Amino acid sequence: MKGEKPMTQPSLVLPQDESNRILVQNVRPPEWENPEPASCYNLVVIGAGTAGLVTAAGAAGLGAKVALIERHLLGGDCLNFGCVPSKGIIRASRAIYDVHSSGEFGILGGEDFRIDFGKAMERMRRIRAEISAHDSARRFREEFGIDVFLGEGSFVGPDSLEVGGKRLRFKKAAICTGARAVAPPIPGIEEVGYLTNETVFSLTDLPSRLAVIGGGPLGCELTQTFARLGSQVSILESEGHLLSREDPDAAEIVQNSMVRDGVELCLNSKALKVSRGSEGKVVNFEQGSKAKELSVDEILVGVGRAPNAKGLNLEKANVAYDPKLGVKVNERLQTSNPRIYAAGDICFPYKFTHTADALARILIANALFMGRQKTSALVIPWCTYTDPEVAHVGMYERGAREKGIEVLTLTVPLTQVDRALLDGEAQGFARVHLKKGTGKILGATVVARHAGEMINEFSLAITSGVGLSAIGKTIHPYPTQVEAIKKLADAYNRTRLTPLVRKALGAWLKWQRS
Ligand SMILES: Cc1cc2nc3c(=O)[nH]c(=O)nc-3n(C[C@H](O)[C@H](O)[C@H](O)COP(=O)(O)OP(=O)(O)OC[C@H]3O[C@@H](n4cnc5c(N)ncnc54)[C@H](O)[C@@H]3O)c2cc1C
Repeated sequence: MKGEKPMTQPSLVLPQDESNRILVQNVRPPEWENPEPASCYNLVVIGAGTAGLVTAAGAAGLGAKVALIERHLLGGDCLNFGCVPSKGIIRASRAIYDVHSSGEFGILGGEDFRIDFGKAMERMRRIRAEISAHDSARRFREEFGIDVFLGEGSFVGPDSLEVGGKRLRFKKAAICTGARAVAPPIPGIEEVGYLTNETVFSLTDLPSRLAVIGGGPLGCELTQTFARLGSQVSILESEGHLLSREDPDAAEIVQNSMVRDGVELCLNSKALKVSRGSEGKVVNFEQGSKAKELSVDEILVGVGRAPNAKGLNLEKANVAYDPKLGVKVNERLQTSNPRIYAAGDICFPYKFTHTADALARILIANALFMGRQKTSALVIPWCTYTDPEVAHVGMYERGAREKGIEVLTLTVPLTQVDRALLDGEAQGFARVHLKKGTGKILGATVVARHAGEMINEFSLAITSGVGLSAIGKTIHPYPTQVEAIKKLADAYNRTRLTPLVRKALGAWLKWQRS
């Protein structure tokens, strides 16, 4: 690397302030010198997002000689353009909401405040920089003894690859190159320009009017956040409700919350073209059979991810690949080249940081220690961090029925949970799907302000084969919102009270009175 220009693309870590300087210093040190490669590595990891970092650190911790290659910023999407910055500004938007609704708690004057968007973004950048220390190139070299190479990794054969003109030979390799945002094919969008997750967190000025294309998790989180930060936001979604994967009543709660935040919902809507008008960027769309138009300052694209495979030279390594789905792997994360494995967004449909982490652990066991771990054994929860949050694990009712499983679905609205009422957070519910006639949990959905925390009780139960009755026997502190789950267990126990059991109990009690 000596003498080479640092590869950081400044446009992706704008603005150039102290926080971003620290970030870059950690995850793309400009003065970094790539090491001399070892004669052969136990494992070469390409891509230093969550999947790559966990794979590299875990393997090195177990004694493997590991090389880690990153072409842009260590930390990948999660740290730089995903979970961390989005949750940073979501926190600011929640604080704004809380001030707005502070009148209810007897705090007067809350209507009269000003939002400093620049400051909210600055806070996010400061915390992101702080967190970046965990993913720093120096930490991976010094603490874990990993050879960190900055540059684009490219296969040159089935057991070797190149980075920055240096050849690395490996016994095993891990492709952890993730995915990136791609714009939908809407005529005019490239010419007019748009924001993606790779650029939106660099904003220093709030767009007054924002169109968000795509009502999935990313689109919904950022729609609500920008609305609360003060933008007039319109969200376009082709389906009849936002978060189309989730139950319609769960999505409806989020939609109602967004409408209260001032968001314009454009459901059943398809963007047709984008152009530049006298009042900004113009999005022409079709809603049902009606032609409609929006004038905005910015367009944020929240749909479309493509696997990062370009430049990897996968053919040279005999690794099979699908341009849409990514690197093809079997259940053990092995590619068509038995030496090469993959983990994370590059190969897996559930594109989450916690999944990338779980897959990395499977990869280490299978690639280095003859493990037989399967991805199909994973229980994967997820959460959309809107307000309220929507979290899910396991099956949905429709999925279970499609598999021919008889389902008992129980729902407890948060209006039945004292703590949710006391907190003013009673918009939501806890729902569980059980295998009929048993307490076996097939899946669960929680809609609540802290649903991402609450879902874990279900994940643990499913993972360890614990039924809902066991949750019912577990004492939950009062008052907590997670009591909603205990109430589901009580509701389940009531369903077990058959007329015969009820009659027998009644007879026993009558006899006691006599
Ligand atoms: C806005 C947003 C919010 C999100 N929020 C959440 C959330 O709250 N919770 C959650 O669980 N998930 C969230 N995600 C998803 C999460 O960020 C991803 O699932 C996760 O980052 C995937 O990790 P990965 O390691 O597979 O890929 P990545 O993080 O994409 O890392 C891949 C790395 O490989 C590098 N690379 C690519 N090609 C090469 C090459 N040829 N040579 C060298 N390096 C290469 C890339 O530069 C990148 O750094 C969010 C995503 C977005 C976009």
